[in-house]
Amino acid sequence: MTTENIRTYDVIVIGAGPVGENVADRTSAAGLRTVIVESELAGGDCSYWACEPSKALLRPALLRADALHVPGLDPAVKNPLDVEAVLAHRDRMSADWTDDGQVEWIKSAGIDLLRGHGRLAGEREVSVRTPDGDTVRLRARHAVAVCTGSRAALPPLPGIEDLRPWTSREATSARKPPRRLAIVGAGVVGVEMATAWQALGSRVTLLAREEGLLPRMEPFAGELVTERLREAGADVRFGVSVVAAGRGRDGEVRITLADGAELVADEVLFATGRAPRSQDIGLDTVGLTPGDWLTTDDSLTVTAVPGNWLYAVGDVNRRALFTHQGKYQARIAGAVIVARSRGEALDTGRWAVHSGTADTEAVPGVVFTDPEVAFVGLTVREAERGGRDVEVVDHEIGHLAGALQYRPDYRGRARILIDRERQVLVGATFVGPGVSELLYSATVAITAEVPVERLWHAVPAFPTISEVWLRLLETRRDS
Ligand SMILES: Cc1cc2nc3c(=O)[nH]c(=O)nc-3n(C[C@H](O)[C@H](O)[C@H](O)COP(=O)(O)OP(=O)(O)OC[C@H]3O[C@@H](n4cnc5c(N)ncnc54)[C@H](O)[C@@H]3O)c2cc1C
Repeated sequence: MTTENIRTYDVIVIGAGPVGENVADRTSAAGLRTVIVESELAGGDCSYWACEPSKALLRPALLRADALHVPGLDPAVKNPLDVEAVLAHRDRMSADWTDDGQVEWIKSAGIDLLRGHGRLAGEREVSVRTPDGDTVRLRARHAVAVCTGSRAALPPLPGIEDLRPWTSREATSARKPPRRLAIVGAGVVGVEMATAWQALGSRVTLLAREEGLLPRMEPFAGELVTERLREAGADVRFGVSVVAAGRGRDGEVRITLADGAELVADEVLFATGRAPRSQDIGLDTVGLTPGDWLTTDDSLTVTAVPGNWLYAVGDVNRRALFTHQGKYQARIAGAVIVARSRGEALDTGRWAVHSGTADTEAVPGVVFTDPEVAFVGLTVREAERGGRDVEVVDHEIGHLAGALQYRPDYRGRARILIDRERQVLVGATFVGPGVSELLYSATVAITAEVPVERLWHAVPAFPTISEVWLRLLETRRDS
């Protein structure tokens, strides 16, 4: 590498998804000269093929499901969704897959944007292949942050190359509903896309290897979602594995199941997990293995590389694959990079890394299905696995006045986990229409370690679903 071709920055960020943008924002705002390298669209998967388009597809479906059960409102929503209007709204929410707005923001934040594919090229160096075939070499005085995200992981099925299956990208950006859509996978992407496309007119068959949906969550979450998906007309099957799949000349997809049964569909979505986008980013040049998740400590520093210059932030480190959690990490990583550049200690101030527990103890998430599933912290299974002594308190949300006002056929349940020794909340799961907005209250209770007895003084308004907090405390007192 010759020095005359090298551009030097304080910080190089690879990947302009929500996470990379937030790292760059923090370092640039602190006066560090920062460049961000992006190979596709600034804004990342979240803006164009994940959070934004999926929620735009789901919002009308969930609102209609609620409205269909509100007396007096039901006749107004009897007709099916206006598919074209929903897809047009989805397109707008995905900025029509253009990133002008993001590019403008990057410029306004004083960050340089370099379009192209970035690869590490040894310590503190990055080589970028630009769209017109040039190579630009970058050197970082202080830090390189890898924020390249994740991609859909496909199972190693025979013939999958010729199948042209949907991944989350096609499922969120498709131009029309397929007549028959098979979905393989019982996790968040599988159930959200089943809910959306069933509501948009597809006949969905959801194939789960496990014996329930959302297998990493409290079992009642998957049970309630299964009930509603089936009521909406979806065919939900458990304990089934796909052993082969192919696309015929007629365009139809034929899926063979382990028990020999065959399923025919127009499209098949594999929602079978995520893999890191780290195969082709030069990990071998710094002693790491291409294709691996990048392991970091709580300061988001890659532990296996000496010198405290390489950071991995967001999906690519596998700590918690959510936009909000990646942005939380980005705020920490940004502060750490700035502190190290100034020779300051990391154990003081708001982002003191030893206090960064939210990635392990209090990760919130919402599954936007009918009913919604909102969770934070531990499940019972996780508490048991970790040898945590917890008290489990359940309450049926459908019994609340606020729930019946919301939707007279309301079905839902709440569960909280209380650490017996410390008498603080360590986990909460809410399942029911409209519960997503309850989640922040539980997140605050967990991260602030509010003593459970003190929660009696946080009075929920009548008649709202948040009264479930009071009922949970009463259930505990009476048990
Ligand atoms: C269908 C679906 C729905 C989801 N819904 C939600 C939701 O509702 N809420 C939520 O919190 N999370 C959701 N997620 C998860 C969320 O999308 C991710 O956690 C988030 O996008 C991670 O952000 P990131 O910046 O780490 O990665 P990404 O958003 O993937 O961004 C990475 C960026 O890096 C770029 N890049 C990669 N390699 C290179 C390279 N070598 N050189 C240059 N650039 C590169 C990519 O082009 C991309 O722009 C969803 C995921 C899916 C699949």
